[in-house]
Amino acid sequence: MRKSSSTEPYSPHEIEPRWQERWAETALYRTPEGNERPTFYCLDFFPYPSGAGLSVGHCRNYVPSDVVSRYHRMKGYAVMHPMGWDAFGLPAENEAIRKGIHPRDSTRRYAANYRRQMTLIGASYDWEREISSAHPKYYRWTQWIFLLLHKRGLAYRALAPVNWCASCQTTLANNEVEGGTCWRCHQPVIRRDLQQWFLRITAYADELLAETDKVDWPEHILAMQRNWIGRSEGVEFDLVVEGPARDDSTGFVAGTGRNHPSASFSVFTTRPDTVYGMTFAVLAPEHPLVDQITSPGQRVAVEVYVERARRMTEIERLSTERTCDGVFTGAYAVNPVNGRRVPVFVADYVLLAYGTGAIMSVPAHDQRDYEFAKKYDLPIVEVIRPVLGEWAGDQAFEGEGVMVNSGPFDGQPSAQAWGGIAATMERAGYGRRTVQYRMRDWLISRQRYWGAPIPIVHCRQCGTVPVPENELPVMLPHLPDYQPRGDGRSPLANLPEFVDCACPACGGPAQRETDTLDGFACSSWYFLRFPDREYDQGPFNPEAVRHWLPVDLYVGGAEHAVMHLLYARFWTKALADEGLIDFREPFPRLASQGILHAADGKRMSKSGGNVVTPDEVVERYGADILRIYLLFMAPFDRNVNWDEDGITGAERFLHRVWRLCQVAGRVRRGQGGQSRSPGEGEVRRMTHKTVRRVTEDIEAFKFNTAVAAMMEYANALWAQQEDPGPAFYEATGILIRLLAPFAPHIAEELWARRGGAYSVHQQSWPTYDPALTVDDTIDLVVQVNGKVRDRIVVSAEVDDEEARRLALQSERVQRYLNGEPPKKVIVVPGRLVNIVV
Ligand SMILES: [Zn+2]
Ligand SMILES: [Zn+2]
Repeated sequence: MRKSSSTEPYSPHEIEPRWQERWAETALYRTPEGNERPTFYCLDFFPYPSGAGLSVGHCRNYVPSDVVSRYHRMKGYAVMHPMGWDAFGLPAENEAIRKGIHPRDSTRRYAANYRRQMTLIGASYDWEREISSAHPKYYRWTQWIFLLLHKRGLAYRALAPVNWCASCQTTLANNEVEGGTCWRCHQPVIRRDLQQWFLRITAYADELLAETDKVDWPEHILAMQRNWIGRSEGVEFDLVVEGPARDDSTGFVAGTGRNHPSASFSVFTTRPDTVYGMTFAVLAPEHPLVDQITSPGQRVAVEVYVERARRMTEIERLSTERTCDGVFTGAYAVNPVNGRRVPVFVADYVLLAYGTGAIMSVPAHDQRDYEFAKKYDLPIVEVIRPVLGEWAGDQAFEGEGVMVNSGPFDGQPSAQAWGGIAATMERAGYGRRTVQYRMRDWLISRQRYWGAPIPIVHCRQCGTVPVPENELPVMLPHLPDYQPRGDGRSPLANLPEFVDCACPACGGPAQRETDTLDGFACSSWYFLRFPDREYDQGPFNPEAVRHWLPVDLYVGGAEHAVMHLLYARFWTKALADEGLIDFREPFPRLASQGILHAADGKRMSKSGGNVVTPDEVVERYGADILRIYLLFMAPFDRNVNWDEDGITGAERFLHRVWRLCQVAGRVRRGQGGQSRSPGEGEVRRMTHKTVRRVTEDIEAFKFNTAVAAMMEYANALWAQQEDPGPAFYEATGILIRLLAPFAPHIAEELWARRGGAYSVHQQSWPTYDPALTVDDTIDLVVQVNGKVRDRIVVSAEVDDEEARRLALQSERVQRYLNGEPPKKVIVVPGRLVNIVV
């Protein structure tokens, strides 16, 4: 051990690397195996290692999860705090292409840099569990799970219009399209028809939605998932199509038209109570009926319109910013509830993939229908009247009210008519109550190189054949020229030695699937791999998973709310249904950090030139000061701007702790504190209160107030340093342990200098006596015009407002007020209240 000196200054650059080395040598953060302690699995989102490295913004995720891990170790838990790399996928491949470095090499290099930076900030990961999703030992099991889903009917191939990013040369899942652009390169996304692999996430829509009520997640993330799943209850009913009227007009026409013998379509509505107000119906441009029912006079217009819609993305079509348009088919449909003929339009805001691909339109009670009706001069029929006042008619009335123009339902509250009309339709046999979801199946194939090959063989005789389990992994061949070619096929399709193979079923010549799996497949199960990364009898070791899972705390940003977080829940449920795990939610508790913006308030980005790296801050101040600052700067979940001036508070605090411990060292050597000082009791109470506050704040993810509590504590001790007693010495020992999860290096150094056993991170977390944490009381002097008139007992933590109120209530004071309000009240906090009358 180093010799302690009572004057040596705090020098983070000397302390920090030394302890980091020692921690690594002694494997201090190795996960304890097979013991009786309770387990705590603390996990950060699986990061994709980018060439830019970590910014201080990323550290706002990694530092808090590190505090929680360290805290739980001291609380006596067996903690697993692992880290791995989401190395496969589009982000890594795009970056590799941009920089001209093969992704196999770049992802390794970048991961090593992340690991270096994480060590630099003192993160306590168990590196013996590090995994990479691009390693064959890992993706073998990603492929295995894909085949399991295939076996369970949850993976299928279909020709489908897909979101195509021409710049990335690949398809994108719906969640990966942001405002009509690609989530990675922000170029416009177009539609294209391709044979694709899908995962049937919709089979779990109900459960994915229902269990959002059972998890402890930030409300805004739950809201995003619920909205994405988009459950709605309604009625689906059938409309029979009639032929075009003589003049192709779009008004109501007496029902004498020619019938299309078998032509009918169904619509879904969440508002059956408005069905009497339907004045037109709309089909999606892709609806199979469009061609059949279009009248000769309208054919050219309809075909032009359909062709234009085909070239648009779904996002563009659904955009609320554009005005809706459509084209009349020349055909009519009959509203089954009242026999009215209504014109049938084609419009691109209706999507074939959602619902039935057709809608009823009620312009009086739906704003989009209203605008459409105004544009094409279609009738608007009010069927629900507001309970209070008249309907102005200048926009749709979408609320509830009283039924009008609705036959037998007139006069009923609309909420009641909802059920009545639904029941009538069911009885009549043309309608049924149903539930619909906005979420659709997960498009999982990518026409790209850098991913796990989809383990399927295409055989002319046998169709799609799964690769046998004992032939996994289907290795991703090393391909120096891995750039997408723009023909909609993966670069693997160019490689005959990869493509040509024998059919596992019949032995005949066959071709391998050349698409790779979406990178989100890899991250949908990685949390199951950490408990035993070497396991080779299955994707995960069932015994270890039973011991560690579900994850006790998951920490990461909201940007994955409807991607990774939804997919991982889906895979977990499918694995549970297979009987491989005994829980259905992988992450019962999720914490999501606010964004750390650059000093200019913008997102930190390399192109913006405003990235602050942990490297530069650690070089200037040290890791512990950076950590304290990141924790202290704002509540964990709040967005905040980087402000380097603010770091001096953190710096001052740790310097103060350092000097307090030097003073305590003198106490111990008998240079002070001979007698019990009058402040002893106060110090002890403060100590217990601080332990309580810090403990409760860590549990509640309130790291900023936990740091504030320690700062106040240090300041209070500072005031005692002229006459430090045994309580002072004891207090600094507790302060060091409280500080250990937050500023692990300085705590370790001070602990060692104090003569404590290695390591402070293996000491037990301080406990408190609740009796000593309750508020203390003080005597408050009450003066009237400067003369003492009363003394009242109040809480030591009384605020000015309360002190003023209590003073004015005093009977003795009221004698001097004579029922008049005081001219002025001066409060000297903690001491006196002076009332001027
Ligand atoms: Zn793109
Ligand atoms: Zn075959």
